[in-house]
Amino acid sequence: MSERESMPYDVVIVGAGPAGLSAAIRLKKVAAEKGAEVSVCVLEKGSEVGAHILSGAVIDPQSLDELLPDWREQGCPLAEVPVTENLHWVLTRGGKFTLPHLWTPPFLHNKGTYTGSLGNLCRWLAGKAEELGVEIFPGFAAAEILFHEDGSVRGVATGDMGVARDGTRKPDYQPGLELHAKYTFFSEGCRGHLSKELMRIFDLRRDCDPQVYGLGVKELWDIDPALHTPGKVIHTQGWPLSESGSNGGGWIYHQANGQVSIGFVTWLNYSNPYVSPFQEMQRWKTHPAVAALLVGGKRVSYGARAINDGGLQSIPRLVFPGGALIGDSAGFLNVPRIKGTHTAMKSAMLAAEAAVDAIVSQRGGDELTAYPEAFERSWVRKELSIVRNVVPLVKRFGDLIGSGLAGVTMWLEYLGLRMPFTLHHHPDHETLWRKDLVRKIDYPKADGVLTFDRLSSVFLSNTNHEEDQPVHLTLKDPTVPVEYDLPLYDEPAQRYCPAGVYEIVGEDVGEPKFVINAQNCVHCKTCDIKDPTQNINWVVPEGGGGPNYPNM
Ligand SMILES: Cc1cc2nc3c(=O)[nH]c(=O)nc-3n(C[C@H](O)[C@H](O)[C@H](O)COP(=O)(O)OP(=O)(O)OC[C@H]3O[C@@H](n4cnc5c(N)ncnc54)[C@H](O)[C@@H]3O)c2cc1C
Ligand code: SF4
Repeated sequence: MSERESMPYDVVIVGAGPAGLSAAIRLKKVAAEKGAEVSVCVLEKGSEVGAHILSGAVIDPQSLDELLPDWREQGCPLAEVPVTENLHWVLTRGGKFTLPHLWTPPFLHNKGTYTGSLGNLCRWLAGKAEELGVEIFPGFAAAEILFHEDGSVRGVATGDMGVARDGTRKPDYQPGLELHAKYTFFSEGCRGHLSKELMRIFDLRRDCDPQVYGLGVKELWDIDPALHTPGKVIHTQGWPLSESGSNGGGWIYHQANGQVSIGFVTWLNYSNPYVSPFQEMQRWKTHPAVAALLVGGKRVSYGARAINDGGLQSIPRLVFPGGALIGDSAGFLNVPRIKGTHTAMKSAMLAAEAAVDAIVSQRGGDELTAYPEAFERSWVRKELSIVRNVVPLVKRFGDLIGSGLAGVTMWLEYLGLRMPFTLHHHPDHETLWRKDLVRKIDYPKADGVLTFDRLSSVFLSNTNHEEDQPVHLTLKDPTVPVEYDLPLYDEPAQRYCPAGVYEIVGEDVGEPKFVINAQNCVHCKTCDIKDPTQNINWVVPEGGGGPNYPNM
């Protein structure tokens, strides 16, 4: 018999990001419209709602308008800074040129959008959800999927607390809690750990392309007020990734309170194992056009998070008996717009509507097929279809020619001329070349003013994990990092992890050892994605552990 207590709900939601919270709000609102009661709870692994949320963010308000039409009058922090100016720079090593607006269709021009902290938007949405009677449990990580005997999903269990590194129980041990539901929604964000498990168990990816990813490294800066223009947003492409033949780009968003959100996304299909997404971000800041903005400024926050790049062709089957994948757990991000919030929210709202209909009809534990059907008819699908060839074109033909071709296809699709093809994706963990076939990259040392090292950066993410707990970065085979990855790829985990979690020590004395500093992990999920042998499996640590982002 399980010593865990259980709590029954109509719907349990894993993850209090924009998707999970939009689902919760929509469930309550639609149920009220139908004169029904649905009980809803949301689990969040961060110490509070927003603590693990990291985004740009420039947000298209379309879903927010549908979810809470009066959000602007209700004190929503996102309303503070509408986007007023939108630029796209192509960077060379020391120069830049600005791409004319005509190059891209109007949906890329950020008209009617807002810029701000997605974490703060989530905190505000959580308040709205609670007003409607949703129960939110921050600090509780869903660690296990529960099943009925017929194989349908019954709910989730939160992780045990107070387990020591060696697996024994500490004096403060507390067993996890079981949350049972008619339907369980998984809104864990990009590369969710339980979502990955569900895709395997229910073979949800059998009819789609592999998901592909980027890693976004972000910093918040207080800058010189004379250089600050609230509402101005800039995207960059080209240098420095052009030097290693990799893809991605940067953003600069002038937000509230004299702050700029700056960040850099490296697509994880890069082939040179010496590429470090963290160092590429540091180098990008030294470009004269970026550095000029940061002169006299102060970096106040740091974080990193993976982002889904696969688009329409990588969306898995969305439902299985007893539950659904919503938001970035499935992957609805529009890459050329670098926007996933509005699509994540809309997917969640569609799933919520399907669930209320089912619950009102006394159903439970079956497949909510009305949700994927509604997605097929939705504006989200249409939006993602227009841009579906952009990422594969850039990967195949490079930044310059690929972006040119992508611009042409977007214009044609936008004007209603559907391309008769969809290009496919290749998994990111299969793209690395052997270290002897590439040029080693020597990144410059941090200057401590404009550029920084990883450890001082992680310090600014306020990351904290209980040290005496089982390591949450599990290795399927502990010999692989030293015996396979090191000789072939110089163990790339040392460079792709933006928090310095992985190190090889003792190489100088001929006894290399793979060290995992798990307490530094900022939960970006890159190791789970990019590890060439898929040997690293990220699982949730004790609830409440991880970064504590104030307003990312
Ligand atoms: C670097 C970067 C820049 C971006 N810029 C923009 C932008 O400018 N505009 C835009 O619209 N979009 C942007 N996006 C995309 C946008 O942030 C996402 O599409 C959006 O956050 C997805 O929402 P979500 O709710 O699905 O997932 P998330 O926002 O990732 O939220 C998931 C939540 O679930 C929690 N969670 C995960 N697993 C568990 C578990 N097992 N138990 C309990 N809790 C769990 C997490 O802690 C988190 O709070 C950006 C993304 C990145 C990474
Ligand atoms: S250990 Fe993995 S998930 Fe954690 S910060 Fe490093 S790459 Fe990201």
